[in-house]
Amino acid sequence: MKRLLVILAHPDDESFPIGGTLARYADEGVAVTLVCATKGEAGIPGHSAVGTAVQREQELAAAAQILGVSDLRFLDYRDGHVAEVAVHTAVTQLVSLLQEIRPQAVITFGPDGISGHPDHLAVHHLVTAAFDRAGIVCNLIEGGTVSIGLDGGISPCWPLMHNHTSYLHGKPHQSRRHVVGNVNERELLGIWLDEAYVTYRQKMQSFAFAPCTYCGGCELSEENEEDCFGNEFPACGNCLWAQGVIPCP
Ligand code: SF4
Ligand code: SF4
Repeated sequence: MKRLLVILAHPDDESFPIGGTLARYADEGVAVTLVCATKGEAGIPGHSAVGTAVQREQELAAAAQILGVSDLRFLDYRDGHVAEVAVHTAVTQLVSLLQEIRPQAVITFGPDGISGHPDHLAVHHLVTAAFDRAGIVCNLIEGGTVSIGLDGGISPCWPLMHNHTSYLHGKPHQSRRHVVGNVNERELLGIWLDEAYVTYRQKMQSFAFAPCTYCGGCELSEENEEDCFGNEFPACGNCLWAQGVIPCP
């Protein structure tokens, strides 16, 4: 079954600009998931936020039924304040959604946010970042490679073969060497099949690192020692190879 994922900011964003599109695809048998970042509680001046949220949630549920949306979800962000949501939390949440639903197409706001509403602009940036991030893999790990230093030290990749500094948006990132074994002390196959190294490669497949390159940065992003998701060395969220910034090999 084909799947369409729609991520917008407020109840009614789905009906005014793209209601016909959603209804058409639902009618053609596409499973449409609609994710609304807020419940629109600030949308009726003079009304209580709680009452407005309940009313607009019901309205959206009714609209979704008419449009043929099969799956309706809320992110429960605060109406008017989506831009204040922690980027790494939001992007991770959205990446999980993308990985769960695996849609063939995603609809969200363009860079102008249609009306320039700050929530629309924030949703655009978050969804775009999550979309880019969802496809991130480490090609060096996926390719089953290792790198061997002149001293016989085995590293998972050449970025981790040596201490080095990389730069993104002018910000330096210190990367420390990571060695998982040495061919002068143990045969390569034994290092490759070592339980800790197998676990490490399995973890790399989900690439569940903090999205430092999109976040704007805290001091943890200055090194590959740890990240805010609790990952310990080597934390790969800032790796320019995995982000596709450096395309080789
Ligand atoms: S480690 Fe810091 S820069 Fe990286 S995602 Fe977390 S808060 Fe942002
Ligand atoms: S993500 Fe980067 S640093 Fe991490 S293992 Fe892959 S190439 Fe090496």
